Amino acid sequence: MAKKCSCAHVPTVIVPGIGQSQTALFNKNGEIERIVWPFGGFDVKAVIKAIAPNVLAAVLTRQDAGLPQKMAKAVTKQLDVLFNRPDGTPLYDVRALTYPGSLAECSEEQRRYIYRMVPVPTLEDKIGPDHLWFFTYNSFGETMKIVDDLRAYIQVVKQKTGHDKVNLAPISLGGTVAAAYLGKYGDDNDINRVVAIVPAYDGSQAIADMLADRLDYENYREVISFLFRSDVCDMIDKCLRPFSKKTAYHTLKTVLRAVLDGVLKNCVTMWGAVPCAEYPTLSLRYLSDEPHKKLKEQADEVYSYRRDFAQTVRREQKKGVIFDTICCHGLRIFELCQSDRLDSDHIVHSASASMGATFAPLGKKLPAFGVCPNGHTHASPNGTVDASTGLAPDTTWYFANQAHDFVQNCRPVLETAEWLLADEDYKDVFTDPAHPQFTTIR
Ligand SMILES: [Zn+2]
Ligand SMILES: [Zn+2]
Repeated sequence: MAKKCSCAHVPTVIVPGIGQSQTALFNKNGEIERIVWPFGGFDVKAVIKAIAPNVLAAVLTRQDAGLPQKMAKAVTKQLDVLFNRPDGTPLYDVRALTYPGSLAECSEEQRRYIYRMVPVPTLEDKIGPDHLWFFTYNSFGETMKIVDDLRAYIQVVKQKTGHDKVNLAPISLGGTVAAAYLGKYGDDNDINRVVAIVPAYDGSQAIADMLADRLDYENYREVISFLFRSDVCDMIDKCLRPFSKKTAYHTLKTVLRAVLDGVLKNCVTMWGAVPCAEYPTLSLRYLSDEPHKKLKEQADEVYSYRRDFAQTVRREQKKGVIFDTICCHGLRIFELCQSDRLDSDHIVHSASASMGATFAPLGKKLPAFGVCPNGHTHASPNGTVDASTGLAPDTTWYFANQAHDFVQNCRPVLETAEWLLADEDYKDVFTDPAHPQFTTIR
């Protein structure tokens, strides 16, 4: 270590979620060709050009005239830059953009991007921009490679800040990365506390439903508006308007399946987000063939860390690592999923984000409440959450009615995270009435 830092803070390493690391396509010379994720470059004209003959034929013949397959092909062609081979390696040279150092070393443009993803001005003021770091990774990449990159990154943070431990702040999919990191490299003893924001510690039920095709295609309108920009949705709508409901439905199903299969099935990070209860069956069904052998080995390893996460947390807690968790809940899971009763933050089911708390089905209340190891009941005022069954009941905060997708705009959530990360005192849900265990977002 270069020089010890004597400040009272610990550097924060943010491990962002699925839509938060900018990923670029690189050309043969290793230069950036274009940003491919977060996805924004949909070429509507190219899709219309590709499907126009089939649309015309379908209108004339009153049959689907190959439209579903043609449209699926045209749409997936726009997205295939994010696809992987069956062994889990990327089809193209796509890599996350990385930052040269802490926020203090970022350009204005980089800072603006990071702040759009995770606005934490109070935290930055308190710990200093040189103690705030933003790790990035390809959201559709290989989890164990990402974990190795994170390990190297943490070494740089320690070296440059002069601290021998860091705080991890995993968000959403970052929770699966943090779980695998702690499972594999917990013995490095370089983590001080983990302040997780809507973490997918046990994956997301929505990913399992999408992989297994347990979907409700009747809800396609909401889904395409979630997946695509409004002009793309208008294009899809316009193309389908002349057809019978049956043809429109079949076309959309074909397109959505092609997109989901392309994005999910060969992708280690997505397999890394399949809940433990579903992983053995689904991986056996889709990854048992020879071409997927390498992918399955890596996905199995990621699964093993998620499966053993409770032991990992206990082991790390014994060493003094604090697990603070922010769980949003009370909402229906992704519209395309058939389950309309599972408590979630819209993307991640709440049991995953809370490390095992108990939730009533939506619209119902729990009949009884348990007691945590410290003798408290942790019942939500509206009777829908029993936090006592979670792995860290005294340090898990709940925000009802807050959607996962907009959590970066939710000040109460971010203020709680900043409060937890800003100084190194132990804090729990009883510490400060300004940060109660249960908050309802209105
Ligand atoms: Zn310091
Ligand atoms: Zn308790």
